[in-house]
Amino acid sequence: MNQETKAADSDENPVTAENVDLSNCDRELIQYSGAIQPHAVLLVLNEPDLRVLQASTNAAAVFSLSMENLLTSNAEALLGAQNTEQLRKRLGSTKLDGSPVHLLRFDVGGKQRFHVFGHRIDGVLILELEMAGDAAADTLDIYSELRMAIGRLQSTASLDEFMNLAVDQVREFTGFDRVMAYRFLEDGSGDVTAESLKPGLEPYLGLRYPASDIPLPARRMYSLSWVRHLPDVAYEPIPIVPATNPVTKGPLDLSYAFTRSVSVMYTEYLKNMGTQATLVITLLKKGELWGLISCMNHERPVHVQYETRMACEFLGHMISLLMDSKEEIGNYRYKLKLAAAWDQVSEHMAREKDFRDGLTKHEPTILTNMDAGGAAVVAKGDVRLLGTTPTAEQVLRLAEWIATQSETVFSTERLAALYPPADAFQGSAAGVMAIRLARNNADMILWFRPELPQTVSWAGNPEKPVEVSFEGDSIRLAPRRSFELWKQSVSGRSAAWESWELEAVGDLRRKIVEVVLQRAEEVSLLNRQLEQSNLELDSFAYIAAHDLKEPLRGINSFSGLIRADSSQLDAKSNKHLETIQTLTKRMDALIDSLLAYSKVGSMELQMVPVDLNTIVEHVVRTVKARLDESNVTLRLARPFPMASCNAQLVEEVFQNLLTNAAKYNDKPERWIEIGYQEQNPITYFVRDNGIGIDPQHAEQVFQIFRRLHPRHEFGGGSGAGLTITRRMIQRHGGRIWFESTPGEGSTFYFTLGPEKREA
Ligand code: ADP
Repeated sequence: MNQETKAADSDENPVTAENVDLSNCDRELIQYSGAIQPHAVLLVLNEPDLRVLQASTNAAAVFSLSMENLLTSNAEALLGAQNTEQLRKRLGSTKLDGSPVHLLRFDVGGKQRFHVFGHRIDGVLILELEMAGDAAADTLDIYSELRMAIGRLQSTASLDEFMNLAVDQVREFTGFDRVMAYRFLEDGSGDVTAESLKPGLEPYLGLRYPASDIPLPARRMYSLSWVRHLPDVAYEPIPIVPATNPVTKGPLDLSYAFTRSVSVMYTEYLKNMGTQATLVITLLKKGELWGLISCMNHERPVHVQYETRMACEFLGHMISLLMDSKEEIGNYRYKLKLAAAWDQVSEHMAREKDFRDGLTKHEPTILTNMDAGGAAVVAKGDVRLLGTTPTAEQVLRLAEWIATQSETVFSTERLAALYPPADAFQGSAAGVMAIRLARNNADMILWFRPELPQTVSWAGNPEKPVEVSFEGDSIRLAPRRSFELWKQSVSGRSAAWESWELEAVGDLRRKIVEVVLQRAEEVSLLNRQLEQSNLELDSFAYIAAHDLKEPLRGINSFSGLIRADSSQLDAKSNKHLETIQTLTKRMDALIDSLLAYSKVGSMELQMVPVDLNTIVEHVVRTVKARLDESNVTLRLARPFPMASCNAQLVEEVFQNLLTNAAKYNDKPERWIEIGYQEQNPITYFVRDNGIGIDPQHAEQVFQIFRRLHPRHEFGGGSGAGLTITRRMIQRHGGRIWFESTPGEGSTFYFTLGPEKREA
């Protein structure tokens, strides 16, 4: 059994063929591998005497000593007095408690050159002596190249362009066959977002790697050091002896040792990919692991020298910093575009009578610059749709559900997980973002994003990352060998809504609310002006009518005088004078109606509790003669409840409706029913079995001086009765309307207070 599976075995959940996968690496303690790679020599020293405590077995050959002798020697014996002095100086001035620090260069026997790196852990000093190449890299060259690379990176316009250039630059620098930018997603899987390739290699661009391909311990290691290098995937590990550290009495912690032997799972995995050497640069965003720049050599091993690695590390820092700002710039542009769109949208909104027209009818609409597939405006149960959306009915139900959530700006990229009916419309709205326009109803604006991506190009089947084989009673895990594309549907998820998008729609929400409030203010101002001009009109009508009556009386009495002296007139002239008198009487009646009408508008109304039974009784008494004469039966269904109203006006209302009901009836047996319906507010009615009214005259009957009949039919009338009645009801805040079947009868309904809106 190899070392890797041993660690997994010791876990509480023993490895079985069922539960084994690459994430067994998650439980593997790779920092305790107890071995290094052959391009370095490792020494563990005691401080301050710099005695050798442990050493990699290849040290014997390098220092031409037996392992026993080596393990009883010290730094001076191995490195020489001068180097040791320099070493001590550096040790005294540096903390060395993190990533290994380059301490010195030195040659063994004039031929083998080494870079010496040191760091402290668990109270011991670890020296890693990395073999240096023959020709020392020209540091000056590297730095001028680096400067140029950074200049070019700075001038890119978008994050994509930036990443593409970054991988090109790293490849130019390191000479690897393949350089990929790899970005971690929320679930730990990762996408290859940019790639620079030697011609002829199969591209990995766009592939997604399952989370288990880069197990947790490896990711932890990536965030500890900027650059990790594996010069030869097929290396033979060099053990460190003795296995137990004599000072700590435990295994040596190699967390920071960059020449540490890596997990067998990892090298197997790389071998399966046909990789011979790797170099991985960590990319951080705001201190968090964002992704990697992963370099691979497929043809041969390659040992990247310290100087070049330093340059890569520097490049990694710069890329991390610049990448953040490139992404910010991308977001900033998007934000600006949205802000400009909202300004135009709110201008349209201010100009349109219906604010929804401002949001949906003109370019830009609420969808134009938004990164979404569709949008909807829901107001008072009515739905307007833009782009690709669920049906209006589905949107309405969804809005009602969102209204039960507490946020004013709501968003999710997995709607169906919260709201199961969304399963039916994943294609248009796997994700939704919504702003609520009012607290107490489902009025809102929604944006939709479809399921994304419909398919993912997995690099290998994520369900089967490992092949398991049994060798005797030990288990051998090997990463999968097949790397064919495996398409997997990622269901129920849209692209994520970013925080700045939520902010941007929050801004839009404020703008809409502003316009709507302003509109409400304008309406109330108009109402006040209207009230004022109504009052003025009423007093004008009153004065005019009043003043007209005087000359009218004159015309009437003078025509009477002439007629009285009839000897002077022929029959024809007498007839004409008679007509003048009839007409003045009619005009007088009209003026009276007008006066009555304007009085209703301007009079002070006192609302008091009134017993409607008394009122109706009084009205019936007043019109009784007329009812009897027309042979009308009166039906009073049940007693009325008390009502808060103006008794004088309500009496007139009943009287007018009752008179009409009796008048407009040609049946031999006439009846009138007076009653009420228990609604909110109470609805009173006067019903008759009369001639009825054609519904097309529904509005005309309420217009002043409009009659549906020739003047002398049905006992005549001025045509102002229903107009005045309606005004009296409106002064109570109520409403009047009728239902009728011509030839069968009519029912006039009215209320004496405002209608309650549904909450
Ligand atoms: P008028 O003085 O003519 O009765 P109203 O304003 O009261 O004026 O009514 C307007 C018109 O509405 C009437 O001329 C009549 O044609 C019609 N109308 C009113 N009430 C009834 C009713 N109960 N049945 C049928 N027609 C009616």
